[in-house]
Amino acid sequence: MKTLHLVSLGCAKNLVDSEMMLGSLEQGGYTVVENPADADLLLVNTCGFLQSAVEEAVDEILALAEYKQQDHSKKLIVTGCMVQRYGNELQAELPEVDLFIGIDDEIRILELINGLKNDSSLVLTRPSRFLLSYDSPRRLSTPRFRSYLKITEGCDNCCTYCMIPSIRGDLRSRTVEDLLAEAQSLANAGLSELTLIAQDLTAYGDDLGSHINLPGLLLSLLQKTDIPWLRLLYLYPVSISKELLQLMADQPRIVPYLDIPFQHVSDAVLKRMNRRYGRDDLDSMVNQIRHYLPDCALRTTMLVGFPGETEQDFEELLTCLEHWQLDHVGVFPYEDEEGSIAAGLSRKISAEEKQIRYQRVMELQAGISRKKLEQYVGRVESVLVEGVSRETDLLLEGRTRFQAPDIDGCVYINEGTANPGDIVQVHITEAHIYDLVGSIQE
Ligand code: SF4
Repeated sequence: MKTLHLVSLGCAKNLVDSEMMLGSLEQGGYTVVENPADADLLLVNTCGFLQSAVEEAVDEILALAEYKQQDHSKKLIVTGCMVQRYGNELQAELPEVDLFIGIDDEIRILELINGLKNDSSLVLTRPSRFLLSYDSPRRLSTPRFRSYLKITEGCDNCCTYCMIPSIRGDLRSRTVEDLLAEAQSLANAGLSELTLIAQDLTAYGDDLGSHINLPGLLLSLLQKTDIPWLRLLYLYPVSISKELLQLMADQPRIVPYLDIPFQHVSDAVLKRMNRRYGRDDLDSMVNQIRHYLPDCALRTTMLVGFPGETEQDFEELLTCLEHWQLDHVGVFPYEDEEGSIAAGLSRKISAEEKQIRYQRVMELQAGISRKKLEQYVGRVESVLVEGVSRETDLLLEGRTRFQAPDIDGCVYINEGTANPGDIVQVHITEAHIYDLVGSIQE
């Protein structure tokens, strides 16, 4: 029996690529093992979007290379965005690695490993044109009751701080038929929650013709599958249509949750980021969403310390967060990315100042998140049960419709029994900064 150990880094989109490679290798007779010491094949699927992600990837690779030191028959394979971004530079940097595979060639991983020669090699196609499809092999790494559906690849937005378009290529949308086929096969395996992901979900279909768009895809998924929960992550602010909001208002199977990276609020900063909107657009968008979906949970991401961000710009960001009272906010201190347009911009912000601004947003938002969660106390909420809590086996853990997997808090269930994947009614009794507590309504 051939064995493999996988380390999958980065975002949910990269996780889907890892699942594709797991599917191929499983077809080739490989079995996944938890302990790298027991693996013939050591596989690291990297993220290359930020320097911090690249450093993390190199640490993981060097850690696995240790096992190869102890047993030279092991093979160390590195794939993903870091390979796509840095290509043959890596061969010199990381001689321990037997094979580097770029994004477009991951689908051929089994053939490439079977054809592996003794010397380190690199297989890389640029620009990236690959697009996953229903008949691509896939072995879920998430519990069977929840899964990601990657609906596009690449991005055409060209934000000045972002390297993804140069790594993942231009926008490519999968067809509705192809996505439906995948969703139906996932549904047949007993799916409770399907999370739609992309670099920009709202761009879905832009490259397939005017009549194909996100609301159309959702309508097909609603009509042709019985998946209880459909969740939307990564929407571009000004591309959220009334059509989409009306569909969400009419269709409770699309959970009232929207993840919309704003990145900033100041018109001047957004312009330097090449984001196609300003503060007033964000204001009317938040109001419009709350008009159609009063109960909708809003998640966003903010970048602090972008070149040229003045104290006044930053105060404006704090004022807006105070005003909008968003449910979940991820904050990141800006870092120059080699090769990005923003790296060439003037008026850099010092590391100390970036940290101060990061802390101030975190503190403000912690108070807001807690207040938002308190509104659920006393309510009975639908909760998707994940299983026995990671904290203690006295509790079950789950998520409401307002909490996304792997990024938001959870619900600790201290009364009642249920199985992983069940959607149960939970009476919420307590709220903390990020988590809730409650008991199952029998
Ligand atoms: S929308 Fe902007 S930040 Fe997001 S992937 Fe595309 S270019 Fe990058």
